Amino acid sequence: MECKKSNLHVLLVSFPAQGHINPLLRLAKCLASKGLLVTFSTTETIGHMMKEATNTKSTNIGQGELRFEFFSDGWEIDEPQRANLATWMHQLKTAGRESFIELINRQSETGKPVSCIINNPFVPWATDVAAELEIPCAVLWVQSCAVYSIYYNFQHQLASFPNPDQRDMVLDLPSLPSLEFDDIPDFLTLNPFDSLRKVILSQFKNLDKAFCVLVDSFEELERETIEVMSRISAPIKPVGPLFRSTKNASVRGDIWKATDDCLQWLDSQSPNSVVYVSFGSVVALSSEQLQELSAGLLKSGTPFLWVVKTPPPDMGSKPELPQGFKEEAEGKGMVVEWCPQEQVLAHSAVSCFITHCGWNSSMECLTSGVPVVAFPQWGDQNTNAKFLIDVYGVGIRAKKTPTGKNGAPVVTRDEVERCIFEVTKGANAEEIKKNAVKWKEAAEAAVADGGSSHRNIELFVDDIQRMAC
Ligand code: UDP
Repeated sequence: MECKKSNLHVLLVSFPAQGHINPLLRLAKCLASKGLLVTFSTTETIGHMMKEATNTKSTNIGQGELRFEFFSDGWEIDEPQRANLATWMHQLKTAGRESFIELINRQSETGKPVSCIINNPFVPWATDVAAELEIPCAVLWVQSCAVYSIYYNFQHQLASFPNPDQRDMVLDLPSLPSLEFDDIPDFLTLNPFDSLRKVILSQFKNLDKAFCVLVDSFEELERETIEVMSRISAPIKPVGPLFRSTKNASVRGDIWKATDDCLQWLDSQSPNSVVYVSFGSVVALSSEQLQELSAGLLKSGTPFLWVVKTPPPDMGSKPELPQGFKEEAEGKGMVVEWCPQEQVLAHSAVSCFITHCGWNSSMECLTSGVPVVAFPQWGDQNTNAKFLIDVYGVGIRAKKTPTGKNGAPVVTRDEVERCIFEVTKGANAEEIKKNAVKWKEAAEAAVADGGSSHRNIELFVDDIQRMAC
């Protein structure tokens, strides 16, 4: 007898960081819209900061339902954490694992046993829990397929990667363009944070136990890489861009409170005039970089909307904008703590996006048709910048010069001004905009009924249904 979709219960587990919560929550909404019961879970400490999620215990989406439940990471809610990533990851694994198992058992006790777990590979132990409890497990990869391929090749030693003394070496991997030193995630080359490199590579630890690897990308964007990696690693199903397939945008997982009045401010600006500036949820710019960026924004004479967030309690203090900047910026731009980025990128007043090129931000601007000034800082942002600029042709990469403290690379104010001009009014601006619109349309087609990502989601739901019967 065929199991009914309404009896299927999918449990998603997210690593507690904004760049992981967003794609997982979008997938959760997408699956709920297919008529499933979906529970989104992450740690209590971060869940406590996701005010909307904690206030909305349950929401109906189409025929389905989305619930939130949190598990402990062994820390008190207000206790500073993550000072030492390795210790914190260990604690998350021990305390989190136990509390996560209790969460799963609670679902059975209330008559809604979990039929499938979707794991964030940053939390690889959740796949072990699924195997122990004999629950089918899939994975959502929250970076690009190109980055998946680079990490996989490094982890399995399928290619030789340059070290800091081999900056001229070019990395050639199947299906990818030649990558220069600054295009490769620096966790693999400069290794600035060893414990983070370990966490990143541990993502592959349990991938073979998952019945499917979902990716927040789409076939038309990364076809060849998806094919190559599906052959050599695990079957990969691109289901993105997830933010476009989401039926109920009103449920958000923001850790910071978004300033909605920036949308009204955008309403008051001319079409195609505003530079949107954001560096995502983790990057903190040096004071020299803040100085140069703020001077460059003012020098450009272009209105701007700039997100300058206060880091989470344990991750540094609020960046100090240069003295006098706020006064000088009066009437020229708006600085906010956090904004509803998807809506900002969809606003007709926005002309371009100065971005750190996190994968979520990259997908969101690429598929909103917004030209980019790529301003990567570290990690996979370097690779995403390479693809946005040289492969997808939607912008320009800001050049760094070693003018910071101790020769640290900085994007100067003149370079900021030049990039804004080039991407909005320069000789290639028209071509860049044309490419951006092309990718927006391709993304819309991928998530529309019958599109590649839409089909993959349907097939994925069929798989869960088949396994649950
Ligand atoms: N974001 C947002 N409002 C902001 C800044 C960022 O909603 O003011 C969201 C953005 O839409 C994206 C996420 O935060 O979904 C950041 O993820 P990304 O992968 O771009 O960067 P990370 O924070 O992981 O470095």
